[in-house]
Amino acid sequence: MTTQPAALATRCVHAGELDDPHGSPHTPIYTTTTFKFPSTAAVLDVVEGRKAGALYTRYGMNPTIQALEEKLAALEDAEAAWAFCSGMAAESALFLTYGRTGIVCLGDAYGGTLELLSAQLPTLGIPGYFLLGDELDALPSLLKRGAGLVFFETPTNPTLEQFDIAAISEIAHAHGAFVAVDNTFASPVNQNPLALGADFVVHSATKYLGGHSDLTAGALMGAKNALAPVWSWRKNLGQTIAPEIAAQLARSLRSLPVRVERQNATAMKLAQAMRSHPGVARVLYPGLPDFPGFDLAKRQMRGFGGMLTIEIKGGGDAATRVADKLKLFALAPSLGGVESLVTQPCTTTHHGLTPEERARRGISDAMLRLSVGLEDADDLIADLNQALA
Ligand SMILES: *Cc1c(COP(=O)(O)O)cnc(C)c1O
Repeated sequence: MTTQPAALATRCVHAGELDDPHGSPHTPIYTTTTFKFPSTAAVLDVVEGRKAGALYTRYGMNPTIQALEEKLAALEDAEAAWAFCSGMAAESALFLTYGRTGIVCLGDAYGGTLELLSAQLPTLGIPGYFLLGDELDALPSLLKRGAGLVFFETPTNPTLEQFDIAAISEIAHAHGAFVAVDNTFASPVNQNPLALGADFVVHSATKYLGGHSDLTAGALMGAKNALAPVWSWRKNLGQTIAPEIAAQLARSLRSLPVRVERQNATAMKLAQAMRSHPGVARVLYPGLPDFPGFDLAKRQMRGFGGMLTIEIKGGGDAATRVADKLKLFALAPSLGGVESLVTQPCTTTHHGLTPEERARRGISDAMLRLSVGLEDADDLIADLNQALA
């Protein structure tokens, strides 16, 4: 392992890079599937874990993947990280390793996560429990019943609700349960759940870590011993990241802080501009002092993120008209890329829920979720103004 320099920006550039014999300043792509050895003794050193090394790419034992994983670990100040072919792959490997006695999901979560926990894992005998933010009093009793993993996102989609990572970790640990935080929305630039007490961090690297809407990948970070059993699930479910994607993701990570810091700043400008717009009923952004989660966000986040949600006056149809009139914001449901995106949650991410269920989660049809890219803030505000006019 290379020693990790203290500052995140430096780690993003330098952590985990291979010392290339030809002088490449960054890790080359080894598309190789298998790696040869000088002797059987050398094979056994790697197979029996006495030496780190390359062996077989699906195992993740490939220099390009291993270099990426060292960089991913450095981003969250973790002992170790595994890279996956998607965010859902990272989540499902974690759930199968640590969730078998039951998983408690707090707050709103990604649609795929909710489907996995509510419809698929129960068919394997793995119970999923769901508590919204105002139901956390029920957490200890679920943990007493044996649930071994608490999983949540913070901020959540699309209301950007904050969950207290330190407080929830304390409750879970008191009952012998593990805590995993999906840190996709915040990114490691803005929030480090492990430092606040969580045991695992999951990322859909498809979003901010990849940052250009051009790759699908996932990551899981945590303590080395805790991650060890997840490795076998990843290996045998065949969920490892491809070396080409690993190199593409490592490239993106080198510029992660620059991108996210700009996205934070632009999102704040948009939030302020939209708050005083007569066509906007409400702005949900963790960096606004009147946002319900502002104090908690200030405590557990270094930056407030590039995601904001605006509620349009005039209801769902008015919001659809605004979304359809935006020109710079592309109408697409993902997030975290260099290009700004807009989505109306009731038509995409939360389309599968009944209106009552959406209301229970505080999601109105008039909401538009914005993922702020790297365009000029004034241009983005002008685009919103013309669409709202
Ligand atoms: C997109 C997303 C996922 C799933 O990630 P994939 O890379 O698409 O598998 C999980 N959690 C959150 C918060 C997401 O936004």
